[in-house]
Amino acid sequence: MRETAAVDLHLHSLASDGRLSPAELVRHAASRGVRHLALTDHDTTAGVAEAAEAAVAAGVGFVAGIELSAAWRGRGIHVLGLSIDPDAVALRAGIGRLHGFRLERAERIATRLEAARAPGRAALKAVLAMTALPTRTHFARALVDLGAARDASEAFDRLLRRGRPGYVASEWPEVAEVTGWIVAAGGAAVLAHPLRYALSNGARRELAREFREAGGRGVEVATGGASAAQVAEAATLATRTGLEGSAGSDFHDPAIAWNPPGRLAKLPPSIRPVWASPPFPRDFGCS
Ligand code: MN
Ligand code: MN
Ligand code: MN
Repeated sequence: MRETAAVDLHLHSLASDGRLSPAELVRHAASRGVRHLALTDHDTTAGVAEAAEAAVAAGVGFVAGIELSAAWRGRGIHVLGLSIDPDAVALRAGIGRLHGFRLERAERIATRLEAARAPGRAALKAVLAMTALPTRTHFARALVDLGAARDASEAFDRLLRRGRPGYVASEWPEVAEVTGWIVAAGGAAVLAHPLRYALSNGARRELAREFREAGGRGVEVATGGASAAQVAEAATLATRTGLEGSAGSDFHDPAIAWNPPGRLAKLPPSIRPVWASPPFPRDFGCS
């Protein structure tokens, strides 16, 4: 369980809220023993070309990816697109809409933080200096830099989380629509970190079934920091809803110890790996 897995299909770079450039990320993952990877930044493929080039140099397998923001029954849900064509028209149009949502949401978060006497305007200014594509992680970092929170997790718990003053209800496009963009881009759609959503088991299965009907291929079964019981639970979800399995650490930052690239459980033998068939290259995942 703690040896490095060869396949890690959920990694972030500076193109979204990761800490490493795309090339540094690929070298970091390769140095840890990852042999096949995907770059999956939030709502952007801006880092993909640089990562692909670094992967060739490092001799590791690479597919273009993205982690798209979506909504289901009013909850924020993340859908991974793996082995996508980043230039596909439907995907580009969808990403454009998500960028609009992100900028608008950042404005609203800032306004709400100000109303709660937190430095929302200053945080927004800092966030927009960090990125063209604001995430809540960027807000958390800005609030820490401004002395409004001790660390990022406190910023989330006190200010940014659902039920907190800076929370803005997500108005992302529906899961089925976002999944359609990935399918249109020739990619495999994977439901990210399925146990992280505050849903009952029954609702989680309904989400997974609707996702599959919309063209979804898999669900993340091996995730960063997951216990054996959590891997088993996600595997059961995959089996009961007819989805394949994926593996991804959700790595963002070398200073965060719990989810380095490749620290992942093996997929249970009953689970078919999403990377074993097209659109993944033929030898993907074989070391
Ligand atoms: Mn993130
Ligand atoms: Mn996510
Ligand atoms: Mn992620």
